[in-house]
Amino acid sequence: KRMISTQIQEEDIKNEKTLRPLRLEEYIGQEKIKKNLRVFIEAAKQRDEALDHVLFYGPPGLGKTTLAGIIANEMEVNIKVTSGPAIAKPGEMAAILSNLQEGDLLFIDEIHRLNRQVEEVLYPAMEDYAIDIMVGKGASARSIRLDLPKFTLVGATTRAGLLSAPLRDRFGVVHHLEYYTPKELQLIIEQSATKLDVEIDPEGAIEMASRSRGTPRLANRLLKRVRDFAQVQYDGVITKKVASFALDLLEVDKLGLDKNDRSLLLTMIEKFHGGPIGIETLAAAIGEDSGTIEDVYEPYLVKNGFLNRTPRGRVVTEFAYHHFGIPMESET
Ligand code: ADP
Repeated sequence: KRMISTQIQEEDIKNEKTLRPLRLEEYIGQEKIKKNLRVFIEAAKQRDEALDHVLFYGPPGLGKTTLAGIIANEMEVNIKVTSGPAIAKPGEMAAILSNLQEGDLLFIDEIHRLNRQVEEVLYPAMEDYAIDIMVGKGASARSIRLDLPKFTLVGATTRAGLLSAPLRDRFGVVHHLEYYTPKELQLIIEQSATKLDVEIDPEGAIEMASRSRGTPRLANRLLKRVRDFAQVQYDGVITKKVASFALDLLEVDKLGLDKNDRSLLLTMIEKFHGGPIGIETLAAAIGEDSGTIEDVYEPYLVKNGFLNRTPRGRVVTEFAYHHFGIPMESET
């Protein structure tokens, strides 16, 4: 199990119940999104209407599910949570939709993984608040239209590019979540520490923030681990020294890279002269699924200058060579 994986793990589920912000004002960072949402929410409430459908996209663990919950709280409506892979048949989607109450929020995580037929049920539902149901068989089959209550669909996906155009076009609001800055992560860590009743000093929080990959889910997970070290081996307070000691043991380096990131980059350097290398070849070489490489490893490595995507494949940067203290092969 990958300590630093930004994908959800079992321990996160409990974690996230206590640590998940419930109100917009508790939600740190993503200022542009918050500003927009405040206006949309206020306007919809004034008109007593359901909010426009919203799509959030960005790497795992950045707060998409949290935002969906916050919107429901701020709108004072119920939220129903499901995910793309959980809905196998059009009938299941129709059942979920027809059970919604006026104003409800339906959150579909991993919405890019809905299959085509299920997705098609959503089109009239999003556009006209209606579903078309086939009744009868053979020659007497006909479609009848059922009206739905006015609801808000909130979709989340790791990559907007994977969404079909007709689905994407039906969202009135589309927001891209960005990696958090170290300063924002520091605030999140301090906020979570307060909720968990752990003492942490600012330097401790900064040290943890710089190693959390720009990702709140990871920051919270590391906080829980570091807290254990602080409690058992020190006097309970998370200082820079405690944080740095614990994170070294957990093999998360100064720039937030873990064993798997290092193995990916070092494989590219040692076996492929740093690239360019195709994504499938790379996936086979490190024994990882290419989708996971693209969604989980790469965004962070690219954003932080370890890796470049080029038309000929992935290339390790000079910065990465430098980080590992490996001299770059001279071009011949
Ligand atoms: P996603 O749906 O994008 O995978 P989540 O919404 O599940 O991510 O976020 C993971 C956890 O990170 C949440 O439970 C919450 O505790 C924390 N978190 C995410 N975004 C923020 C934020 N902006 N401020 C504070 N905590 C956050």
